Amino acid sequence: MSQPDGPSNTLDNLLTESRTFPPTAEFAAAANATSDSYDRAAADREGFWAEQADQLDWARKWDQVLDWSGAPFAKWFVGGELNVAHNCVDRHVEAGNGDRVAIHWEGEPGDSRTITYAELQREVSRTANALASLGVGAGDRVAIYLPMLPEAVFSMLACARLGALHSVVFGGFSAEALRARINDAEAKVVITCDGQYRRGKAAPLKANVDEAVQHTPSVEHVLVVKRTATEVAWNERDKWWHDVVEPQSDQHTPEAFDSEHPLFILYTSGTTGSPKGILHTSGGYLTQAAYTHRTVFDLKPGSDVYWCTADIGWVTGHTYIVYGPLANGATQVIYEGTPNSPHEGRHWEIVQKYGVTLYYTAPTTIRTFMKWGAEIPAQYDLSTLRVLGSVGEPINPEAWMWYRENIGGGKTPIVDTWWQTETGAIMISPLPGVTATKPGSAQVPLPGISAKVVDETGEDVGPGGGGLLVLDKPWPSMLRGIWGDDQRFKDTYWSKFADLGYYFAGDGAKYDDDGDIWLLGRVDDVMNVSGHRISTTEVESALVSHPTVAEAAVVGASDPTTGQGIVAFVILRGNAADEAGGDAALKALRDHVSHEIGPIAKPRQIMVVQELPKTRSGKIMRRLLRDVAENREVGDVSTLADSSVMDLISKGIRKSS
Ligand code: ATP
Ligand code: MG
Repeated sequence: MSQPDGPSNTLDNLLTESRTFPPTAEFAAAANATSDSYDRAAADREGFWAEQADQLDWARKWDQVLDWSGAPFAKWFVGGELNVAHNCVDRHVEAGNGDRVAIHWEGEPGDSRTITYAELQREVSRTANALASLGVGAGDRVAIYLPMLPEAVFSMLACARLGALHSVVFGGFSAEALRARINDAEAKVVITCDGQYRRGKAAPLKANVDEAVQHTPSVEHVLVVKRTATEVAWNERDKWWHDVVEPQSDQHTPEAFDSEHPLFILYTSGTTGSPKGILHTSGGYLTQAAYTHRTVFDLKPGSDVYWCTADIGWVTGHTYIVYGPLANGATQVIYEGTPNSPHEGRHWEIVQKYGVTLYYTAPTTIRTFMKWGAEIPAQYDLSTLRVLGSVGEPINPEAWMWYRENIGGGKTPIVDTWWQTETGAIMISPLPGVTATKPGSAQVPLPGISAKVVDETGEDVGPGGGGLLVLDKPWPSMLRGIWGDDQRFKDTYWSKFADLGYYFAGDGAKYDDDGDIWLLGRVDDVMNVSGHRISTTEVESALVSHPTVAEAAVVGASDPTTGQGIVAFVILRGNAADEAGGDAALKALRDHVSHEIGPIAKPRQIMVVQELPKTRSGKIMRRLLRDVAENREVGDVSTLADSSVMDLISKGIRKSS
């Protein structure tokens, strides 16, 4: 498939992986997922999704499963009506499960709160009544700028109950980022709190809202939860949550909305450019959220304790903390704080305390745990864990193995789940109990989902080939647009393969010889070294497979002889940091890469760093490192978690070169 002379968008296929972990017979026998679902879904995709939609409560059944006549604007379960919050809360109470714990909430300072489904129903009803009293109705937008508090979940579900759209803005974003998102959605109400606990300290939050709403003409009310008792300025529009919500009736009758009624707007992480306001709707979104949560995590409601460590400010928090798990009647942990407060074993302490069985986190967190050392999780009882998940970036095979061995006791299936804000729910992932898992690969599209790796012309690259990941058929939880910008929606996702009608996600991928899919990072990050297109992910994974390296980021910097040269930034593992920074050690690392994947991938330069530039959702921002490697002024850092990281890295580079 490769065209050595012409421009080509296929990728060289470098790393190979031969380890596989088939499910145990015991796990397979009890698993929610069954291998026949792939064939069933392939034979009748719409019938398959209708079967999944049937698991929800509909006030009115749909007339048509999919209307794709207005492509790329999809309509799923056309004519159907449902209330999303009723499905996530009330129906479990009505089914006699009101006493089941919905949320074990764990505050960073060690306070906690247990919320049953019956209580959740009362809280969500009160919040819905309160929002209605503030004039919020169907179609209105509510901005939610809250840390991981139960009130964040109540607020989201209250919006869903009223048919209002929520736009959750991650609590780590600045006043300016918040202002831009409020104005883009023209939110009527902002829900926030006085302050938030982060790394053992109370940090003010409302002050950002005060600053943001000076320039947001749409905002009529600001509703403020009291969390840290931090002193706050008080403005005319402000109201305390406890004054407005608590006195409300805990009864509220939800209204059914059209299946395509908008549910929320959520801005993407901003890893590659300016965030886009992604629009999701009700019936199809909830169907795929619930289905994927049930099968990918093998959820057994009533016995499992599920914990997703994402923030609700990201899509993972929307689909796999709020909508998927609650639609399925799950019992889950929600943790307010950081993984190292007050100590580096906090997550494992929580797993032990609640007997967590299903744990879902991001590669960045796993690599941080690797850096801290395996002796930390070893101090806790993690034997309840039975499925581990990963999302957000490609997971390096060595990080995958570390996760399985040190967190999963060498026995749990790991589900590496590929999806995006835009896809709404998981698209590519192994199914525990069915798939023999492979370290580093997301493997196969879920039943009912169709994905391909294609070349620039849209031709499937076939086993062993690399190229662009596309979704070639519509799916229930797909985005319905970019808020207020239909043209940008078409241009961004549908223009590359307009004739074929493929959705292009922006990610590179390859098939291995078994036909399993490997995600290779953003196509914008692909390097071109002497005419070879090399994925950053593969070189990073080779670096991470060295025992001294905890984390690596690789970029292609312009090079007079090779076009681009590979520059690597590495973070060393805790106990390796002292010895491994010297010239001999760096040469050994370069040789290691050469040995693992070939001399073409040998980094031109390796820099040891303490931190890597990451978005607030923990993804490495390679474009900033490319700026450093090419001696340019560093570009837009507004979605960076900690902008001082870039100064440190730039200084380090100047010193060593
Ligand atoms: P922006 O689109 O604004 O640049 P973003 O793409 O980081 O931001 P998200 O929607 O939060 O915003 O992230 C989706 C992206 O995360 C995917 O396109 C992919 O690059 C990456 N990703 C998510 N899960 C995986 C996974 N399991 N393996 C590899 N990459 C993943
Ligand atoms: Mg994206």
